[in-house]
Amino acid sequence: MQQGPGGGLTSAASIMAGYPDAADKGSTRRNNLGVVLRLLRENGAQSRTRIAAAAGLPKATVSVLVTELIQRGLVREGELDRAGAVGRPHRMVELDGSRVCGIGAEVGVDHVTVMALDLSGAVVHEQRRGISIPELSPQEALREVAVMVRAALRVVGARGLGVAGVVLVTQGAVDTETGTVRLATNFGWRDVPAAAELRALLGPGAPPVQVENDAESGALAEYISADVDSDDDADTRELLYVTGGIGVGGAKLSDGRLLRGSEIGHMHLDRLERPCACGRTGCWEMAVGLQALLDAAADRTDPVHDRTADLAQRLGELLARADGGDPRTLAALAGIADDLARGLGILVDVLNPSRIVLGGYFAVFGRYLVDTAQQLLDQRRIGPVAQRVVVAVSTLGLSNAARGGACLALEGIFHDPTTAQLRPEVTGDRQSR
Ligand SMILES: [Zn+2]
Repeated sequence: MQQGPGGGLTSAASIMAGYPDAADKGSTRRNNLGVVLRLLRENGAQSRTRIAAAAGLPKATVSVLVTELIQRGLVREGELDRAGAVGRPHRMVELDGSRVCGIGAEVGVDHVTVMALDLSGAVVHEQRRGISIPELSPQEALREVAVMVRAALRVVGARGLGVAGVVLVTQGAVDTETGTVRLATNFGWRDVPAAAELRALLGPGAPPVQVENDAESGALAEYISADVDSDDDADTRELLYVTGGIGVGGAKLSDGRLLRGSEIGHMHLDRLERPCACGRTGCWEMAVGLQALLDAAADRTDPVHDRTADLAQRLGELLARADGGDPRTLAALAGIADDLARGLGILVDVLNPSRIVLGGYFAVFGRYLVDTAQQLLDQRRIGPVAQRVVVAVSTLGLSNAARGGACLALEGIFHDPTTAQLRPEVTGDRQSR
């Protein structure tokens, strides 16, 4: 937000007259529309009075902004605000999920997950298929993704939702500018122009397609959902997200900004010096990745190794064995817990987060992993004044990277709500309600 009360804000009249945008008045309006929309995402339904107080904008300005957001189908009138009301209660305003959605498509080593989220964060569509990606060429894999994205487009189209974009989420190093997967060692992908290829497969009229790294999109999903649901979002603002699959990835959010570029799965921490798909030996993901757990817990002929079967079911089977006291599964998890804790200790020293959220398969086995990590981090604290790092598990499930992709697809609207078209019935007729 660039303007405060009395700071020369665009007047109500000029905001309404601002189509098409005229220079910086238009950009102030767009910026303020985004501020209001993001406040509703972070704090939930609120009255215009509360929005004005939180945004530091005059209430008359907020009323005009809300009217435009309603006309764009992005917010709607909700319940009456009766909390602590003196005098006449005000009508609450909330995000409207009926108009637009974002689609995230996660390609994992052994699955593809597609999720559509509406603007209010509700899941409109979700599908996961067990697919062994390393056995396919990138083009074959993207064809499978396209089939699933088209199914999602049909579902959301039937509900009358527009699609802001599709974000393809993969492991490894991605170039978000060009939509290229630079190197995903566990898939065998190198310099794959994945965004362009997926867009071509989706055909004419397809929404825009971007590419994002799985740990980074997962971290964003944690951040956005924590803003809505949790009381300690001060902690969440320095959040380190570590996700376990066949590969291990991580991303840090600092004050809501995503810090990119860490390849934490390849820290040299595997005592057994197992060869890694990256070409080195002894990478952390060889010690704590899903394959290490599966190899330690079960023989190769055991169905939990079957990559074409649903991952959630395979992990559920292992969890049932652990909960039933199976010694081999418990020993395997104890080994993972030790190696995970060692790596997290190093990451805390380097990145200094206040909160660590474990995602992917780590979250499924959280009760066997978190205590070991928390104890080690507590022991390693330097001096009594050092801040305690809290270790928690993601509550968003195995789809959280796909969810983050869908959140990212909607980010453009949260930053410039004018990218969402006006409802057809108000185009050319901008009367306010
Ligand atoms: Zn490696």
